[in-house]
Amino acid sequence: MTAVGRITRRRLLFLAPTFWAVSGCRRSAPPPAAPATRPAASLEAGPAAAYARYLAGMRICLDPGHGGDADRPGYKRGPTGLREAEVNLRVALMLREMLTEAGAAVFMTRENDTALSDAGAEDLRLRAEVANRNDCDLLLSIHHNASATNPDANFASVWYHGDVDDNPASLDVARHLAVALIDALDLPQTLGCPVLSDELIARTGFAVLRHARVPAVLTEASFHSNPDEERRLADPVYNRREARALFAGLARYAYGGLPRARLVAPADGVVIAGGSRSVQVELQDGLAQRRSWGWDRRQILRDSIRVRLGDRVLPHVYEEQPDRVWFIIPPDVPPGRPRVRLQFQNVFKHSNTRPDLGIELREGGAGGAS
Ligand SMILES: [Zn+2]
Repeated sequence: MTAVGRITRRRLLFLAPTFWAVSGCRRSAPPPAAPATRPAASLEAGPAAAYARYLAGMRICLDPGHGGDADRPGYKRGPTGLREAEVNLRVALMLREMLTEAGAAVFMTRENDTALSDAGAEDLRLRAEVANRNDCDLLLSIHHNASATNPDANFASVWYHGDVDDNPASLDVARHLAVALIDALDLPQTLGCPVLSDELIARTGFAVLRHARVPAVLTEASFHSNPDEERRLADPVYNRREARALFAGLARYAYGGLPRARLVAPADGVVIAGGSRSVQVELQDGLAQRRSWGWDRRQILRDSIRVRLGDRVLPHVYEEQPDRVWFIIPPDVPPGRPRVRLQFQNVFKHSNTRPDLGIELREGGAGGAS
């Protein structure tokens, strides 16, 4: 939109707020993938929340954990033999149905009782690769927990990879999913903080999350090692309740928008070492395209913007309208592929999903000669 267009719009807003609130939304085209009405109420648990419409167009990879392991005695089974792999798959298939109905594009790592590779490590890498290859907005790995020592244990947890600062967008998804599961499942225990790092379990975290280059979380909705919970998990109606909770969590995440940082200059990411070394990035708040009331005000938290080169924070300039950030690759950085990341948050405090800018610093002078 031009500056003139913005002024005109604001004047309209000042003169006739009620008119604009009603007619402005109608005049602006809605996002092409969003349905005009709420999703159909055909699911057992009742109608979906109105904001589930914002799932439309999202690309979601569902990973039902395990599979192809029925011949391993006692492997990932409850006290009477219920297999975790089967429960994970049932929940995932139900969730796929709900997400598809809401207009999301769903990619499954498996649809049958199979593994992607006989080698465990390769199996997990390939699962993450499904999300990477399909440019998904997120990877959700669906699991159920077990305790070898405490049959009473039964609580929900959601896991992210690495350090708490590494993957802020994964934390956004995890928070929504954790609260939705706790609300829906009514389990006997609740962790003080249900969002946990995979490094608490394994030194290098969970492979399926570690290999993901998109926001990725793993849910352990409840404990199949708990006899009462094993009984509940064997019931498809209860599985649907869990799928419904995951759906609600994902819908709430979608509602808050998925911000993006888009490289504007240099468009190909190649910075010439002897040139200006300047980089320009467009910040997309993930909300403006809805053209909802107030859409043309700033919806990015200014103080949330951080540009990092490795562990180093780079100074930047932020300009509103349009949301742009400028920064310089410092002169002491040698040619190569420095890891430059830009993070920011929108009004929902959702972080951008692709912080890595993919910058390459090449030898050469200001004229581009090399
Ligand atoms: Zn598992």
